[in-house]
Amino acid sequence: MRIAHSAPRLACFLLLLTPGIVLAQNFVAASDTPSSQTPTEPKAPKVFDADAIDKTANPCVDFYQYVCGNWRKNNPIPGDQSRWGRFNELSERNRYLLYVDLNKAATSPHTALQRKYGNFFAACMNTDLANQLGDKPLLPLFARIDAIQDKKEIAAVAAYLDSKTPTGIFFRFGVEQDQKDSSKQIESVYQGGLTLPDRDYYLEDNPHMQEIRDKYRAYIVSVLKLTDETDETAAADAGHVLEIETALAKGATPRVELRDPDKRYHVMTFAELDQLDPGFNWAAYFAGVKAPKQDTLNVGQPDFFKAENQVIADQSLEALKVYLKFHVINGVAAWLSQPYEDASFEFFQKTLQGQAEQTARWKRCTAATDRALGEAVGQDWVKENFPPQAKQNMEQLVAALKKALGEDIQALPWMSADTKTEAEAKLAAFRQKIGYPDKWRDYSKFRVTRTDFVEDLDHSAAFEFNYELNKVGKPVDEKEWGMTPPTVNAYYDPPMNDINFPAGILQPPFYDFSKDPAVNFGGIGVVIGHEMTHGFDDEGSKYDGQGNVKPWWTDADHAAFQKRLDCEINEYNSFEPVPGVHLNGKLTLGENTADNGGIRIAWQALLSTLAQQGKSIDDKIDGYSEAQRYFIAFGQIWCENRTEQVSRVAAKTDPHSPGMFRVNGVVRNFDEFGKAFGCHQGQPMMPDDACRVW
Ligand SMILES: [Zn+2]
Repeated sequence: MRIAHSAPRLACFLLLLTPGIVLAQNFVAASDTPSSQTPTEPKAPKVFDADAIDKTANPCVDFYQYVCGNWRKNNPIPGDQSRWGRFNELSERNRYLLYVDLNKAATSPHTALQRKYGNFFAACMNTDLANQLGDKPLLPLFARIDAIQDKKEIAAVAAYLDSKTPTGIFFRFGVEQDQKDSSKQIESVYQGGLTLPDRDYYLEDNPHMQEIRDKYRAYIVSVLKLTDETDETAAADAGHVLEIETALAKGATPRVELRDPDKRYHVMTFAELDQLDPGFNWAAYFAGVKAPKQDTLNVGQPDFFKAENQVIADQSLEALKVYLKFHVINGVAAWLSQPYEDASFEFFQKTLQGQAEQTARWKRCTAATDRALGEAVGQDWVKENFPPQAKQNMEQLVAALKKALGEDIQALPWMSADTKTEAEAKLAAFRQKIGYPDKWRDYSKFRVTRTDFVEDLDHSAAFEFNYELNKVGKPVDEKEWGMTPPTVNAYYDPPMNDINFPAGILQPPFYDFSKDPAVNFGGIGVVIGHEMTHGFDDEGSKYDGQGNVKPWWTDADHAAFQKRLDCEINEYNSFEPVPGVHLNGKLTLGENTADNGGIRIAWQALLSTLAQQGKSIDDKIDGYSEAQRYFIAFGQIWCENRTEQVSRVAAKTDPHSPGMFRVNGVVRNFDEFGKAFGCHQGQPMMPDDACRVW
């Protein structure tokens, strides 16, 4: 029931950065490059890399191969990664630069904040201490679980665990903007309680999923045995955990359905929640987490809570206690002593993600410090790595993109004047955040030990939990960020109606102001256009400019919109990342719409900018026209290698299409691409059945 800062809170990311949902079996990374245990500075990624182009490929037949062919050949997946692309190149560089700051702060801090994050990082790096402690950090939590005498006491212990440690038991409790009145912050409970990446992992009956379940069972057995359970008890207990999670999975709403805001919103009174799920003592839970008294809350998926009620009724008290205990271990297993860390790596990184070797400790600790204290480390990081000029330049780019989207909406042949007026109003209400927060978070109440990293992680979980709880009933903080400054990503948040670009992404290969406009519009320009288009994709378009779920379309316009979305659904359904494995056009619809809209809007903005500068799209630099440079810069953002197994699972769970289709799927729908490369109608990248939404 981890507090759900990013769970009920809904945001459309540019990509899924933590591939916790990717999976691969028996995979050996296709690389003999040793991953770095010793920190070394990675090279800065290149913007517009002519050497990455495979000139033997025909851009009109397979643009992705043309634009990324040599990059993919020369960049096999490192041993400590399961996929490797341009985003990763930049993320690794940002991570190294952050590590330098953390390492300095751990040895010679100059400010109170540096002392805090330096201590957190130092505690994380102290593997000797982790090995000495073994499972000692868990014992007080186990004692609370062992003391449960009656099923009615489970809720109070769940509240204790949720507000103390990262767990993930049963459901996720959080605070979110009310989707019918986005000015309000309300409490919500949301389906959860699973360990595998998706409900399908529990429910699909095929040899592949069965094998994953078998390996998951072996993982549960291995960590329970580390807590001194016998082989026999651990085997029986693993059976209980799987049975409980499978029953919860059956009650969970499928991922694709959750794209519909209505499937996430069921406001009810606390008495109604009690009726729905009487087996869980809700009054004890809310009292235990010290939730502010409210009249109602959002019960995201009522069917899930019926399933939870049934699970508590059907399972023995002992089985339920094992479920709690396993989740307590699993929440921090990667940071306990070596045997726990190894077991966690074996299942989550190796089996599920196909990663050949453990990521170096300094990388993991840098990422963990960024997660826990992102707006503390970010303050120093942006001073060193994000010049004020970059923020100003970005503001100009965003303004150019906003204008282009407005013109695009006005020119749409299929939309009536009334709906256009509403769409314009939503666009005018867009807010933007660039680089880093105007106002940094206050970490003064976050206690850090330097001596016990698991305790520090618990403090972090408790700090986040209280931070969220503290929002209930207060005005929405429009300046709040959902990503830390060094993050290489971006997002649109429908209830906030804002677009967000952390400092981490505003660099090569996305952005370099010494380059020509075509290159920057093809990189960061398309990213901005992508995030803006999310306000008008299948999901975002259900929210108005104030961030409320409210229809603002005429029926006829909505039908025309749906017809265009259907074209995209069918198109992406036809793509096969691996022979026989198709993308899910409905799961990826929002991202595909954003990708396709982004490239058009950025193109329009580029044309306006070139016109203002007295330049032409046909001007040549280094042998490529500005039009070609735009598409090449765009395509090269998505150069990547991933394992076959990663592709299989991403096709099932990732709302983003893989790089190949983020490039080829988009250029084939945009006739300006075909013109730029002299393609003929009917060639694969200039087909007769192209789709267009925005
Ligand atoms: Zn997106």
